[in-house]
Amino acid sequence: MAERDFTRTSFAEHLAEGRLMGVRCRACGALSVVPRVVCASCRASDPEWVELSGRGTLEGFTVVHVPPTPLAAAGFGRDNPYASAVVRLAEGPWITAQLVGVDPKRPESIRVGLEVRAEVIGEGEAARLAFRPEG
Ligand SMILES: [Zn+2]
Repeated sequence: MAERDFTRTSFAEHLAEGRLMGVRCRACGALSVVPRVVCASCRASDPEWVELSGRGTLEGFTVVHVPPTPLAAAGFGRDNPYASAVVRLAEGPWITAQLVGVDPKRPESIRVGLEVRAEVIGEGEAARLAFRPEG
């Protein structure tokens, strides 16, 4: 099976299939969740897709009242904020995505350091990544 292009479109297609995929440099092993052809570490251009576990740790978050278009379309806004998480994946890279399963109107209830797991919200082109606290 041919590998998909190393683009955000391919990343989104993988998500729509329920898989969180990163890009690993075959030359030096550096892993990125931002699809790229040229390795940011060694400048080689020999990438491969690898499936990530989706497990990670909540390193920080912000509550967003003015969402980007896809989240505004999903009903978020000034009166219905959502939490945007910075997650360190078990494999090392950082990624930012919506944090679900928490109360964004009570940010004091959200603890940095929580173990979280990736899930896919929506289907097809509307599929997007989110994280949910485990347990
Ligand atoms: Zn490299």
